[in-house]
Amino acid sequence: MTLAPLFVLALSLSGAETPAVVPAITRAELSHTVSYLASDELEGRATASEGIRKAAEHLAQRMQLAGLKPGGPEDSWFQVVPMERGRATAMPELSLTVAGVTRAFALGVDYEIQAEPLAVKDLRLVYVSAPEQLPETADPKVALVLDGSAGQRREWLAAKKLGEGQGFGLIITRGQKGTGRPRSELRSRMERIDKPIARQDQPFIVRANGPLLEALQQAKDATLSLDTKVVVERMDCRNVIGRIDGVGTKERPELAETALVLSAHYDHIGLDAGAAEGADRVHNGADDDASGCAMMLEIAGAMAAGEAPARDVLVFFATAEEIGLLGTEYYLDHPLAPLDKTVANLNFEMVGRPDPKAGGVGKLWFTGHDRTNLQAAYSAAGLAIVPDPYPDQSFFERSDNYAFVKRGVVGQTLSSYNLHKDYHHVSDEVALIDFEHLELATREALHAVRMVADGSVEPLWLPGRVPTRPGARR
Ligand SMILES: [Zn+2]
Repeated sequence: MTLAPLFVLALSLSGAETPAVVPAITRAELSHTVSYLASDELEGRATASEGIRKAAEHLAQRMQLAGLKPGGPEDSWFQVVPMERGRATAMPELSLTVAGVTRAFALGVDYEIQAEPLAVKDLRLVYVSAPEQLPETADPKVALVLDGSAGQRREWLAAKKLGEGQGFGLIITRGQKGTGRPRSELRSRMERIDKPIARQDQPFIVRANGPLLEALQQAKDATLSLDTKVVVERMDCRNVIGRIDGVGTKERPELAETALVLSAHYDHIGLDAGAAEGADRVHNGADDDASGCAMMLEIAGAMAAGEAPARDVLVFFATAEEIGLLGTEYYLDHPLAPLDKTVANLNFEMVGRPDPKAGGVGKLWFTGHDRTNLQAAYSAAGLAIVPDPYPDQSFFERSDNYAFVKRGVVGQTLSSYNLHKDYHHVSDEVALIDFEHLELATREALHAVRMVADGSVEPLWLPGRVPTRPGARR
C-alpha cells in the first residue's frame, strides 16, 4: 500500500498549511455497517420493503454523523423514486367472442403472458401473416395477431414504423405448437416492481399456443378480452444521497463546478419465498452489497473529515439495483449534479471477500479497465487495483456504473468478487466477510477516489473504447 506519495499530492494540490488528517477508516465501523445492513432484521433489503426503509434511515444517520451534507432534493438525504408494484390477485382471464359465443382460454395451456396490460376489453382482432396486412397506425382497440417468426414480426413492424407494437391493445405472437402445461397456482404469477412509466412505453404481448392461434386465425368478426387480475399500487422508494462540496484548487478553481458520483446499491433481493419451514430465508447480501455500502460510507467519512475535495463528491446509495438499476436510472433522469459536469461514477460492488485473481487480501479489481485512463493512473500511483480478471462475466455491464455509461459518463466498478457460490443465496452472510481485507481495500479505494476528486486525474474514455451505444436508454 502506498500512502505517502498520494498524501503529498493531496497536500500540494490543496495548498494546505496543516498536515492532512489520517483517514478515519476503521474495521470496527466497516463491521458495524455490514453487520447492520446484512442483519436478519432487515430481511434482505428488498426494494420497497420495511427492511430497506430501515437501511435508508441508518445510512442517512451515518452520513450525518460523518459530517456530510444532505445531497438529495430540498436539503434532504432522500431522493424519492416513484415505482409501481403489480400484484396478481387471481388467475388471468382471456376470452374470445365469435358471433356472440364466448370461449375462455387458460394460462399455460393456451397462452403465456409476456408483458401485460392490466385489462383490455372487446378488442377487435386483426390477423396478420404478411406485412401488407398491417394497419397503418397503432390502435388501442385492436388485438394484433402477428403470425410469423420473431424476425419476421420485427421486420413487418419496422417497415410500417410501428416500433415494437406499442400503442396496440395487445400484440399476440406465436407460442408453442401444441398446448402447454396447465398453471393453477397464483404463486407462479408475477409480483413485479417497476417504473410507473414502464407500462406506457412497452408493447403488451401474449404468446398464443397452437390451438388458440388457430382459433384466432379462423375467427371472423371476433373480439378478444384479457383481464390479468393484476392490481397496481404506487410506492415511493428512495435513493439515499449525501454530498461533500468541492472547493476547486488554486490553479483550477473551475474544478469546483465538476462532480464525482460515488455509488453502491443498498437494496438486495429480500426473502427466499421458496425456503422450507424453519430454514434460513433471509438473503442477507453481506457481500452484495452491504460491503460496498460500508466501503463507500468509510470513504465518505474520511473525505468529509479531511481536506475538502476539488470536485463535488456525491455519495449515492442506490435503491432497486437488483431489479434493473432502477434507482440509478431515476437518478440519471433527475441528477443532483449536472450530468455534463459529472466527470465519473465510481461504483463499489461486492468488496467483502478477497479475490486471489486480484492478488488476494486488500486488492481490488476494476471493471472497464481497458476503456478509460483510470486504470493506468491507478497502476502508476501504485494502488492495489488491477484489471477485471473476468472479462467473459461482463461485470462492467452488471452494476449501477453501467447506467451512467449508457448516458455517456465514465462509470466503473471496484470489486473483489471472487465468484463465490453464495452470490444471491441466503448464505451471503456477514460471518463470511473478511474485514481485514475490507479495511485494506477501503484504503486503496479512498486513494482511487481522491485522485479523481482532487483533480489529479481527468477521467476520459480511451480512443475507440467508448461503449457502442452511449446515451441509449434502457
Ligand atoms: Zn450487487
